[in-house]
Amino acid sequence: MADPDGQVIVGLEVHCQLDTKSKLFCGCSTDYRSDGPNTHVCPICLGLPGAMPALNKRAIEYAMKVAKALNCEILNESEFSRKNYFYPDLDKAYQITQYDKPLAEGGYLEIESDEGGERKIRLTRIHVEEDPGRLVHMGNVERGKYSLVDYNRAGIPLIEIVSEPDMRSPKEARKFLNKLRATLEYLNVFDSEKEGSIRVDANISIKGSERVEVKNITSYKGVEKALTFEVTRQKNLIRRGQKIERETRHYLEARGVTQAGRSKEQEHDYRYFPEPDLRPLRVRSWLDGIVLPELPDARRERFMAEYGCSLNHARTLTGELKLANFFEKVVASDKRGLSPLAATWIADTLKGELNYRDMSLDLVEPAAMTGLVLLLKAETITDKSGVEVLRVMLDQRLKNEPAETPDAIVKRLNLAKTPGDTGAITKAIDEAITENPKALDDYRAGRSGALNFLVGQVMKKTRGKADPAELNRLLTGELKKREA
Ligand code: ZN
Ligand code: MN
Repeated sequence: MADPDGQVIVGLEVHCQLDTKSKLFCGCSTDYRSDGPNTHVCPICLGLPGAMPALNKRAIEYAMKVAKALNCEILNESEFSRKNYFYPDLDKAYQITQYDKPLAEGGYLEIESDEGGERKIRLTRIHVEEDPGRLVHMGNVERGKYSLVDYNRAGIPLIEIVSEPDMRSPKEARKFLNKLRATLEYLNVFDSEKEGSIRVDANISIKGSERVEVKNITSYKGVEKALTFEVTRQKNLIRRGQKIERETRHYLEARGVTQAGRSKEQEHDYRYFPEPDLRPLRVRSWLDGIVLPELPDARRERFMAEYGCSLNHARTLTGELKLANFFEKVVASDKRGLSPLAATWIADTLKGELNYRDMSLDLVEPAAMTGLVLLLKAETITDKSGVEVLRVMLDQRLKNEPAETPDAIVKRLNLAKTPGDTGAITKAIDEAITENPKALDDYRAGRSGALNFLVGQVMKKTRGKADPAELNRLLTGELKKREA
């Protein structure tokens, strides 16, 4: 009997584009967006009769790097097969992929589990295959009038990474993908900012019930959203005493829901057979050339040891290659001295402000961030003013305005703390208490929120320039006086 509160079980199949210059079986460029549609094509990637594929060695080396980084066993001999199906994005009516003998088997990726510590998500296999073309639907995918096809994408190398059903929540699936993305970025084989560079099929079930496959999710956030929708849908079915059908569903990104696919699509018979135009792939002699750089886990440990970062900060900072590089540049002039503040300000504040603006880290100068951290370290400005300076910096970059240094912003907005000069604070405290008699009553009645409320009022009046510790001391003193 299925239990609606039963364990959620998730497995993923992740397609990632390898960032090679040319396609997997021909010399066409993989840059499929900068010129018009169907410009980077040739008889091979168009599947014209008689055209013979020639394997791109670089793509296999990239795939081997990934396999090694994910602790897989790279098989000395693998094989390409034809996967036959008819769909307009597939010009040859078959996809060259690997089936019986993939490039690599086993392996694992460690993620932070929902309970805290690290947990290994086992991998089943990694295989290499070619990307199909790209369909552009004119209108709704089901009811649109027509679709256009662009074969520029046909033949771009993909790896398909298949996990075991080891994830226990949509959130863990998201973490798996984030970790995978970071690993691929560190390996320098993948461009995560390229649209469509990652596509995910997810298997999800509630323990004791059939599993459902959600196809073709194209964003990192989409995976967590689609799976969260499925958990609710499946649990509701079980609660109502209904059976979960084993089926394929599609994720409709715009609506955040999954929808049953037509049953025809579930009963494919791909009639795999070995690709007669490609010889078995033997890679033993290439193995020595596969050298791995420092990977996210190792860098996280190093950030803790070398910079004294907390586990959480180290995890966030090393979770994206660019962010990790940025951090190291910001603190380069004084590693130990700047790290504690820089870690907080980059991992928490800057990252939050960038997300809020949907802004790329590329627009931020490490030197400007160093300048801000130095002002904070010297206690020239309060944390609150620090946030204000950062916001001005980011907005200037975003609007492509001349960038002021943090020092200049502090001067222009008159944000510097004036140590010893408590006059302004005292005045603001006096005003805040007089204007809010109820807060004073609340404070007298012992309601703890009253103090925080008054702190907020004073901060507003001093535009955040008041040093929090000093403000607290002065405000408490003033309240005690009036309590008497
Ligand atoms: Zn081509
Ligand atoms: Mn595939």
